[in-house]
Amino acid sequence: MKMKAVVKYDNVAGATEVREVPVPEIGPDDVLVKVAYIGVCGSDPHMHHNRVSYKVNVPLILGHEFSGTIEKLGANVSGWAVGDKVTCETHADYCGKCEMCRTNHYQVCRERKGFGFQADGAFAKYVKVPSRILHKVPDGVTLKEASCTEPVCVAYNALVKNSKIAPGDLVVIIGPGPIGILCTRMASILGAADIVVVGTDGDEDRLKIAEKFGATMTINSSKQDPVPIILGMRDKYGAHTVVDCAGFSPTLKLSMDVVRPYGQITKIGWGPGPVGFSLDPLIAKVVTLQGTFSHTWDVWEKSLILMAEKTFDVNGLITHELPLDKWAESFELMESKQGLKIVLTPID
Ligand SMILES: [Zn+2]
Ligand SMILES: [Zn+2]
Repeated sequence: MKMKAVVKYDNVAGATEVREVPVPEIGPDDVLVKVAYIGVCGSDPHMHHNRVSYKVNVPLILGHEFSGTIEKLGANVSGWAVGDKVTCETHADYCGKCEMCRTNHYQVCRERKGFGFQADGAFAKYVKVPSRILHKVPDGVTLKEASCTEPVCVAYNALVKNSKIAPGDLVVIIGPGPIGILCTRMASILGAADIVVVGTDGDEDRLKIAEKFGATMTINSSKQDPVPIILGMRDKYGAHTVVDCAGFSPTLKLSMDVVRPYGQITKIGWGPGPVGFSLDPLIAKVVTLQGTFSHTWDVWEKSLILMAEKTFDVNGLITHELPLDKWAESFELMESKQGLKIVLTPID
């Protein structure tokens, strides 16, 4: 059996195309998921343009944010049935034996393989999924919404597990992409009283959406310097927590400028370049610089409950729905910021 899939076929820029590939064979502990919706992540265009610091095992099917229904069960799989609506963690593989795996930090297991990075992903009609990373889509969550569970989990892990936000806090979120907007909502749920979201030119629509998700103030940093504005608030010490969803060095500099003494910078965005400035303000202000990566099973279960009760309504993020053969257009919509969350549907 064959299927159409979006394949990155070489480690050079632009080497991505729709190909006819075999439907994956499943092992005894896997299920075959018939894909319903796949979200386009900011990292997907980066992979396409080969702007990544790692080598990909080509040829590789891209895509790691998805939902679907179970089509086939492996011999050892119990507790699941054909037709079950599911969404899946991004961890296509991890060893299950090392200290990280045994302490529920399996997202940083050295043998972890991510869908669409080191293992075939979901820009396809079917995807092979180990049953241990399946999550049932609850009543009240559509399959389209469920394909956006992954970014909700990123926000949950960053703000609930890896930050210390208290009711009444002043929180700054840099970068109003899907992750930044979901972090805005999470900061609001956690009781932050002032939530300042910082974007740049081109982010105007995204900053408006951020307001719907709980931003109490938005700043376009291309037009206004956010530093005096944020340092002019309250007691003029700055933000209790700064969440950097953009990741490159100017936003780390901005984070250090606006974070309060004894505050925290939570860094979600990746930045492959060196920072090019002194980190001494971290020392002078006794600031914690905290990385955060991915998520685990418990985060997925809770995020799905929050989505079912509409505490997180991801429909407000989805701007486009396109068939899989329009993948290049979807990448352009992401890069031009015309699209916020774009979901794709498989093709025959
Ligand atoms: Zn992603
Ligand atoms: Zn491990």
